[in-house]
Amino acid sequence: MAAKSDVKAVLTERLRELHLPAFRECFSEEADRARKASSSYERYLLELADREAEARRQNRIERLLRASKLPAGKTFETFDMGRLPVKVASQVKVLSEGAFLERSENVLAFGNPGSGKTHLLSAIGHELVHLGHKVLFVACSLLVQELLVAKKELRLGRALKKFGKFDALVIDDIGYVQHDREEMEVLFTLLADRYERTSIMLTSNLPFSKWEQIFKDPMTTAAAIDRLVHHSVILELNLPSYRLEHSKASRKKPAQQEQGK
Ligand code: ADP
Ligand code: MG
Repeated sequence: MAAKSDVKAVLTERLRELHLPAFRECFSEEADRARKASSSYERYLLELADREAEARRQNRIERLLRASKLPAGKTFETFDMGRLPVKVASQVKVLSEGAFLERSENVLAFGNPGSGKTHLLSAIGHELVHLGHKVLFVACSLLVQELLVAKKELRLGRALKKFGKFDALVIDDIGYVQHDREEMEVLFTLLADRYERTSIMLTSNLPFSKWEQIFKDPMTTAAAIDRLVHHSVILELNLPSYRLEHSKASRKKPAQQEQGK
C-alpha cells in the first residue's frame, strides 16, 4: 500500500493507465470539495464519472464535427429563421431533433440560388452532430467524381460502404453541374444503395420536373425521384436570394447616408 503522500502520485499514474483524463484532472480538487460538503464516497465518485462522461461526449462531438466536413459557420446561430415560411420553420424544428434518421427518411431542400438551402441543411447537420449522429457533407460534383474514380479502380462497393457508415449524407447542389451519363449512373447507384437504409439530405435549384437534365433518361430519373421521395420531408424555400437582398441593403446604406448629409 502506498504511503498517504504517495497516493496522489500513484493515483495520477493509474488514471493515466486507465485513460481517465477527467478523473485525473479533477480528483484532487473534487476530493477537497467533497470533504468540505461532507459528500458520500458514492457522490464523489459519481461527480468524477459525470465529468469523464461529459468530456468523452464533447470529444466525440468534436471528432464527428471534423469528420462531417460541414461548413463551419453555417449553423442556426448565424441563420435567420424569420426568413423561412412558417411551414418550413416548423419542419426544420422537428428535423433538428433527429428522429427522421431512425426512420431513414430523406430531406430534400428546393429553392432558387441564394435562398439558403445549403446554410439550412448545414445548420440541421450541425444539430444532428451535436446529438451524436454521424453526418457527412459533400458537394454533389465532388461526390460524383469520387464515385467515378472508385468505379474505374474497381472499388465502387467499398466507396459506397464508406458513405453508408454515415447516418446522414448531405449532398449539396444536385444538378448544378451537368454530368455525363456515366457520372450520373454512379450517383444513381449511390441513391439506390442508400434507399431505405440511411438518410440523404440534398439541396437542388432544380425542381423534380427538370431532373431529366440530371439523370439523362426518363426511366432513371423516375426511379431516382421515386426512391428519394418515398420516405422524405420536402423543404420548399421559395424565397428571394439572401445574398441579393443583403447586397442591395448594403448598397442602399451609403446612399441613404449621403442623402442625410
Ligand atoms: P443556396 O444554397 O440556396 O444557394 P446559401 O445557403 O448558400 O443558398 O445562402 C446564400 C448566402 O446567404 C450564404 O452566405 C448564407 O449563409 C446566407 N443566407 C441564406 N439564408 C440565410 C438566412 N435565413 N439567414 C442568414 N443567412 C442566410
Ligand atoms: Mg447552395
